[in-house]
Amino acid sequence: MGNRGSLIILSGPSGVGKGTVRQRLMEHRDTNLFYSVSMTTRSPRPGEENGREYYFVTPEQFQENIDKGNFLEYAQYVAHSYGTPKDKVEEKLNQGINVLLEIDVKGAMTVLRKCPDAISIFLVPPSFEDLEKRIRGRSTETEEVIAKRLEKARSELALKDHYRHIVVNDDVDRAASEIAAIIKAA
Ligand code: ADP
Ligand code: 5GP
Repeated sequence: MGNRGSLIILSGPSGVGKGTVRQRLMEHRDTNLFYSVSMTTRSPRPGEENGREYYFVTPEQFQENIDKGNFLEYAQYVAHSYGTPKDKVEEKLNQGINVLLEIDVKGAMTVLRKCPDAISIFLVPPSFEDLEKRIRGRSTETEEVIAKRLEKARSELALKDHYRHIVVNDDVDRAASEIAAIIKAA
């Protein structure tokens, strides 16, 4: 049997730049990385495509997947559900391919309990002010949702010490290269 791939967890507060850094990271072909597309009950943002950023489903469909035991983990995040479909993750790891999960801190703690060997990475902003600027600059959420996400960000940032690696997203290229190096060293 060949080597199993590594499971990589990428977390960080909303708006820190996870999606942006992940896209750049996926351009590093030498990381042999598969991005695990999550399921969510939230609506697509402009430019997001079903099956690419997320599988967008109804709350009923999400519940059905919970009932069938289809998730490696799932969590509620500011009024919506998000979950990692487990079959694909297993399949890729068995093929020796590294798998990237971009999930919140609650989900990350669940995965770390189930898979203690997972490599956990927490992306932080250079400062809280930068985070606020980025989340507002994206202009995809209402003021009410932005306020909730910023409040959540403070509690998420407090959990960063549970992660093996902390990467500062000061510059997208630099942060993506640092993460690529962590994955290649694994
Ligand atoms: P997340 O996926 O963590 O919620 P996004 O990837 O959507 O965050 O990024 C939030 C906003 O911050 C976007 O408008 C993005 O262009 C911007 N951004 C991401 N990384 C950086 C960076 N290093 N410097 C400045 N702006 C950034
Ligand atoms: P967003 O709505 O900004 O895309 O994501 C909100 C939060 O949910 C982010 O912290 C993101 O990492 C997290 N998230 C995305 N997919 C999953 C998942 O499958 N499971 C968990 N637990 N969190 C997820």
